[in-house]
Formats: sequence, structure tokens, C-alpha cells
Amino acid sequence: MLYFRIMSDANVIIIGAGMAGLTCGCLLAQKGLKVLMIEKNQKVGGCCTSFGKDGFSFDLSVQSLGECQRGGRIWRLLEKLNLLNQIRFIPLEPAREYHFPDRKVSQSSRMETHLENLSSLFPKERKGIGEVYAVLRKIFEEFSTIPSSLNWFEPSSFSSRYPFLSQYKDKTYGELLNESVSHPFLKTLLSIRSSYALLPPEEISVVGMAGIEMSYFNYGVSCVEGRVEQLPLKMGEALEKMGGEILTGHEVQQILIEGKRAIGVRLKDGQELTGKVVISNIDAHHTFSDLLGEDHLPKGFRSKLKGMKPSLSYFILYLGIEGELDELSVSNNEVFFEDQLQKEYQYLYENQISEKAPFYLLAPSKVNPSHASKGKNTLCLSCKTSYHFSPDWDRKIRDELSQHLINKASAFIPNLEKRIVAKIETTPKAIEQWTRNRWGAAYGWTQIPRQSGIYRLSRTTPIPNLYLTGHWTSPGGGIAGVVASGELTAEAVLSRFAKGE
Ligand SMILES: Cc1cc2nc3c(=O)[nH]c(=O)nc-3n(C[C@H](O)[C@H](O)[C@H](O)COP(=O)(O)OP(=O)(O)OC[C@H]3O[C@@H](n4cnc5c(N)ncnc54)[C@H](O)[C@@H]3O)c2cc1C
Repeated sequence: MLYFRIMSDANVIIIGAGMAGLTCGCLLAQKGLKVLMIEKNQKVGGCCTSFGKDGFSFDLSVQSLGECQRGGRIWRLLEKLNLLNQIRFIPLEPAREYHFPDRKVSQSSRMETHLENLSSLFPKERKGIGEVYAVLRKIFEEFSTIPSSLNWFEPSSFSSRYPFLSQYKDKTYGELLNESVSHPFLKTLLSIRSSYALLPPEEISVVGMAGIEMSYFNYGVSCVEGRVEQLPLKMGEALEKMGGEILTGHEVQQILIEGKRAIGVRLKDGQELTGKVVISNIDAHHTFSDLLGEDHLPKGFRSKLKGMKPSLSYFILYLGIEGELDELSVSNNEVFFEDQLQKEYQYLYENQISEKAPFYLLAPSKVNPSHASKGKNTLCLSCKTSYHFSPDWDRKIRDELSQHLINKASAFIPNLEKRIVAKIETTPKAIEQWTRNRWGAAYGWTQIPRQSGIYRLSRTTPIPNLYLTGHWTSPGGGIAGVVASGELTAEAVLSRFAKGE
């Protein structure tokens, strides 16, 4: 292979154009830095993308978003980028319905309504419910005020400035619940959204759960009007208007090092591009093991990386169907066959799917009619799964899982099978191929205590000039989380340029 170095005059090269890379790139370009983004796919967005089949529109992943209503983190970002008039959000209230064998529970996106609903179901536990949310709120507030340059390893000042983060940094959410409430079904309801991190309450960190709960309640739950990919596509356009450049359809194969510092990247076609700073928005394992090479890493960092666990993934069946969906009262539904959330994970960790595994029953076109033509609708049926559930995710296994989900959903939508006119699925392997996130991990590193908060992989790396952004670094996955990550990485890079380093 012939390598040819192009002395690009980029201040910053960003590998991967997911929502974090785009956020970071736009904020840096807005401050006058020359940004070059390199994305292997033909379009930007990563997990936050959409596709069409037989006249139907589907969003690959994002079913609902926090922080999009006035004042929320995503809203503020779009305001800064002058994009508020180009992206519209549809508020979801109630946000979701949970279907249990013997009852249905509606989930408000408003904190006060949510607390009141839970307290009226469990009047004796009102105080404990308040205590749980007081801790989550405090942790979220403390975490949101940490500057990008904080020295984590200053234990004395850390515990006095961030008392809640310090107290709960090693705890699971299950432990917090046990301290404050006692009814098992209340515990289930209080922890139901730990499934957004693909973890049971006994394993998710309090810090991770605070991110999930508070980014919902602070600024409501919404979905993007039209296709979710409008969000990254408009941000990409904004970046280019500010002088940034996006090279789509180009895969980075190596991070170039000179004198132990990152100086640029080599693409698959042999081009070498140089820049003052390199930011990786891609899978951290891929960044360090494949693009950089472990020899460049200190021993301690290498072994930390080896011990880290990615989050689980999803199998998703997207359906275009004939007729209306009056059977469902909201667009986002989750169906449970038992109250104990932990049980499903015992199977998942053995690369199986329990017969009683919960499933998501989403009807996106109910709130987004443009996803289907008149008289038709879209459904997304999905379940959690590990990448290793199947060695190759071939047609046979995809058909079996699809049929399993259709059978379960038919209890809610009569004659479902006969109404299907379009059908396509996504597997962990397909998610991995599209995003390069290892094993199709939906949220980067899983949010267990040793990988959350102050323990998460830092945005600065042991390699000078190389930074991380996205769901493999802090604070973690979900669109609101990676937007925060993009902002914080931009802040760290800007302060470095400001110091003239
Ligand atoms: C199925 C699913 C459902 C989800 N549901 C929700 C939800 O409802 N709400 C929510 O908030 N979040 C949800 N998430 C999580 C959320 O989508 C992600 O956390 C977030 O989008 C990750 O963004 P990112 O910027 O970190 O990286 P990514 O989106 O992973 O982007 C990385 C980009 O880098 C590119 N890339 C990789 N390797 C290279 C290379 N070598 N060279 C060049 N480019 C490269 C990839 O093509 C990709 O575009 C879901 C995720 C999945 C998978």
C-alpha cells in the first residue's frame, strides 16, 4: 500500500460522526477552529440514523429523547447552532405505558406527576420515594457542574465539592432502593428505566441511573418530528457552514503517532491527514487496540481497558402494517411477563433469551404520521440480547426471533401477522457493522459502578493530543449523554488551544 500524507491544516480531526462527534465538532468550529470529521458511512449520525423500506420510515434506534424541550441540553445546543427552527420535537406525555400481567402502569414524563402517581399507589412509601429522587437529583446536579478539566484524583476536594457523587460512587441503584423503600413492586417501578441502560437495578450504578432518570424528568420526553436522522444531518450541515469539513465514506485505519503524540490519521485508502488534535468518537476498544496499537499505551491503562465491559444490545423487528393502531393508547409500550427485572439478565448473561423476557412494543407512526402513508402504520418490536446469542445471526435465527416477537405482540394487536406489509430486522451484528461499536453495544461501556461517573474512561487519554468523545467516555450513552460528552470534550480542547499548547 502506498501512503501519501496530506498536510491538512485542520486544528482538529474527529474520527466518527456520531452525535457526540458532531456536537463537539460544531462547538469547536463555532469558536473558529478548523475541524475535519471522518466518517466511514455515507451519512453522518452513527446510531442516530433512519432508513426506509417499501414506503415506510424507520429510526434505527432512538425511540425517545430527554433534554429536548425549552432549556434542556439538546434544546440549548440547537439554539447555539441556530437550528431550533429546523428541528421540531414532539413531546410524549405520558411517555410510556408498562404492561404487566395483571395491570398497566402509565409513566408520566413530569417529575411531580410521576412522584404523585407512585405515592398514591404506595402511600406508606411516599417519604422513601422522595428520598430516592432527592439523591438522583443531587447526583445529576453535581455531575452536571463538574468542569471538563477536573482532577479526579484529588479525593479531599472532590468529596467536599461533590458530596453525593462521592457517597454513591461505588453503589448500585438496587442498594439505594433498599435503603429507602421496601415494597418489591414499587422497587420494580422505580427501577424500570434501568433497562434503558440494559442493566437490572442490582447492577446499574446510582450515577448511571441518575443520568437516565433526570435527563428524562428535567426537560420532558420527546421524539424528533419526521426522521430522527434530521438531528445529525442538520448538525452536519451547520458544521460545514462554519467552515468544517466532513469526509463521509472514509474509514480511519490508524492513528498516527510521532514523538509519542497523536499527529493525525491514516485512512483505509492510504491517505494520511494531519492535525493538531485527534478526537475519537468511536468504540474505545477499536480506538486503542486497532487504530493506535496497545504498545503505545501504559500498562495500567491497557489492563483497565481489558477488564471493561460493553453494554448489551438489541434485536429489533421493524414492521410496516396495514390499518390503524387504535389498540395502543400511546406510542411507547413495554411489556413484562414477571415483576422481577433481574431474571431476564440471568438468561442474557448466558447468551440466551428467556421465554418471559420483556419486550418493547413501539408504534412510532402514532406520533410521527409521516413514517407511513395514510391507512398504514409502523411498529418496532424489540428485545434485549447479547451479541453472542447467535454465532452469525443468520436468516433462521432472525426469523425465529421475529416470529417470537410477532406472537407476543399479537396479544395487543389482533391479526398482526396478516396486517404486515413490510418487515426488516436489526441484530447486534448489524449494529456493530454500521457503527463499529463492539458487539453492537447500544450505550458504550455498561453503566456498572466501576465504569460510571468518576471511573468511566476519561475524555483525555494517555496519548497527548488524543481525546475521546461519545458513549465510551463520560458521562455515557443515550443522545443526551453523548451531547454532554461532545460539549465537555470541546471545552477541554478549547481550553488547551486557549493556553496556546
Ligand atoms: C438499538 C439502539 C437503541 C437506542 N435507543 C436510544 C433511545 O431511545 N434514546 C437515546 O437517547 N439513546 C438511545 N440509544 C443510544 C444512542 O443512540 C447512543 O448512545 C448514541 O447515539 C451514541 O453516539 P456516539 O456519538 O457516541 O457514537 P455512534 O453513534 O456510535 O457513532 C460513531 C460513528 O463513528 C463511525 N466510525 C466507527 N469507526 C470508524 C472508523 N474507523 N473511521 C471512521 N468512522 C468510524 C461510525 O460509523 C459512527 O457513525 C440507542 C442505541 C441503539 C444501538
